[in-house]
Amino acid sequence: MIVSENKVVSLAYELRINGKNGEVIESVDRNAPLTFLFGAGSLLPKFEDNLAGLKVGDSFDFNLVSEDAYGDFDESSVIKVPLQAFQIDGKVDYELVKIGNKIPMQDSEGHRLTGLVKNVDMDSVTMDFNHPLAGNHLFFKGEITEIRQATEDEMTHGHLHSAGSCEGCESCGGEHSGCC
Ligand SMILES: [Zn+2]
Repeated sequence: MIVSENKVVSLAYELRINGKNGEVIESVDRNAPLTFLFGAGSLLPKFEDNLAGLKVGDSFDFNLVSEDAYGDFDESSVIKVPLQAFQIDGKVDYELVKIGNKIPMQDSEGHRLTGLVKNVDMDSVTMDFNHPLAGNHLFFKGEITEIRQATEDEMTHGHLHSAGSCEGCESCGGEHSGCC
């Protein structure tokens, strides 16, 4: 069996930035691998491309340039938000509005975004809405630990129904009553 559409793939890997021998920012152990439905669009398309055709036990070592990962760092995504936007009952919650905090927010079209607080001054909060990995080339190294055929339900729903986990089931939107 090889990594391809409608297969459930497990892998262990290390993700580094700043070069092949750069800092490890994510480490996924073979005892708790990343398991996903290949081709369902849950991971970066170029990440999947690099795994296609591999077998269990095969190792991989590739990098994704930022354009194929989380994009370039965009200065226009660093914005000043009026401090009033963080007021609850007329008071700013300074436990929330603190440099380094990540705050879930919504844009004017209702899209959910996470903003990182970069600075707080008298009347505004500078927030960075870039993906934390924007502007970084990603270096992946790891091994395929398991491949299985997806079940009919998994293929229809486009997500996993593995051992008690309901991963991604919100995407069903309640449409599939038998889901998890
Ligand atoms: Zn489901």
